[in-house]
Amino acid sequence: MVGRYLIQNATVISVDAAIGIVRNCDVLIEHGIITAVAQNLPTSADLTIIDATDAIVSPGFVDTHRHTWQTQLRTITSDYVLSDYVVNIRNIYGSCYTPHDAYLGNYCGALESIDNGITYLVDHSHIMNSPDHADAAVKGLQDSKIRAVFCYGLYENPAWEGSSVNKEQEIKNPKWRWDDARRIREKYFKSNQPTDLLRFGFAPAEIERGTLAEAIDEVEFGRSLGSAVITGHVAMGKYDRGAHIVRNFEQRNILGPDLLFSHCATLHDDELEAVKKNGVSLSSTPDTELQMGMGHPIAFKAHKHGCVASIGIDITSNNPADMFQQMRLLLQAQRHLDNEKHAVRLPKVSQRCEEVLEMATIGGAAAVGLQDVIGSITPGKRADLLITRCDSTRMTPVHDPVAALVLYANAFDIDTVFIDGELVKHKGLLTGVDWPKVRRELCDSAASIMERSKNAPTEEINVAIMQMLQGFAGDGNGTDGA
Ligand SMILES: [Zn+2]
Repeated sequence: MVGRYLIQNATVISVDAAIGIVRNCDVLIEHGIITAVAQNLPTSADLTIIDATDAIVSPGFVDTHRHTWQTQLRTITSDYVLSDYVVNIRNIYGSCYTPHDAYLGNYCGALESIDNGITYLVDHSHIMNSPDHADAAVKGLQDSKIRAVFCYGLYENPAWEGSSVNKEQEIKNPKWRWDDARRIREKYFKSNQPTDLLRFGFAPAEIERGTLAEAIDEVEFGRSLGSAVITGHVAMGKYDRGAHIVRNFEQRNILGPDLLFSHCATLHDDELEAVKKNGVSLSSTPDTELQMGMGHPIAFKAHKHGCVASIGIDITSNNPADMFQQMRLLLQAQRHLDNEKHAVRLPKVSQRCEEVLEMATIGGAAAVGLQDVIGSITPGKRADLLITRCDSTRMTPVHDPVAALVLYANAFDIDTVFIDGELVKHKGLLTGVDWPKVRRELCDSAASIMERSKNAPTEEINVAIMQMLQGFAGDGNGTDGA
């Protein structure tokens, strides 16, 4: 319910330099907006009081790269390299999804996010097996009440006998997704303003897969639809085939602040410079990048360079939608790299906890152009925030609240989540969600996807993908894999 709330006696980690960290602090939320952050705010009878003694108030996390539909595939890719993922997830399981599966994947993926304190999601949605899938994916996000940008994906999951992709449609009108993206934009996202809970975005098929002309064509089409965010996978470590999308876009004046590139570990310095100059944003996804040969996460290097750096969960077929986990992995992997790089021991730690917390909050907000709307506990911003309890065994005592949040907390410590001033998690539970019922539906859906996947021509798909991946830097034949 959206109303008036007074959170009392919290330790506020504002992630706003003008406010800083304030102990014994109150936060007033009125009709979706944070209206005051100060000690001893006056109370009144019409306020709902939330006691936050022994608790931290912080901005909701912003996840800038997720394929939310994959919720049913949890744990499948955890021992995969990227080529296994492309074969099995993108070309087999993806093709098995029905519209109902796409709905549940997005709905439950968004619920998982809220439970874990992620209040904003960039949904890079490449599950468009039919127009009905697109409607279902949007509805999944809508029903969850998360704040998100739905990025309509052009990727074609292959049609094979027994899949949910309509082969006839693909042959008759291979560009049907372009028309359908326009339909979705008009049907659900007429306004598409920064303060709208759900906005329309766009995701080219695979921006480095085809020719440069095709990549430009797709980005320009996304722009013609007024997409809030246009996102794509770029410069993926051992899978970087030397397309140099960033350099080529820069030379042709295509770069702009609506572009959000994920991964990017192998961007060259001139490309980082172009990213900074043009206000392009980057998303690092530590778990998948470190595991799958996509290079060392670029976030800290990019941040040092002056670029907008943020963090994504990427795929919950591999790791949960847990920003705590990604912050830790990113921070400690970078500290390790910095320690190893220096011949002598470092006199002080190279990166601080607060830097990674900024990337997971205000950095993410900036990455999607919402730095004035969300991402910090600042009066005037929309109320997307968390109350994290510090009374568990793992959170007692707290000398440094930022360290507690970055290196100690987990989803079970999150007592309350507000999105747009609405209580979406309270007293440790998602509000308005019959989880046992939803869980049963999710398990049924997962089982039916597994059943349909048995029809897939696995060997044929495997050969096709391996051929596609030939010539990548990982094979030692890359044109420029540095
Ligand atoms: Zn991705």
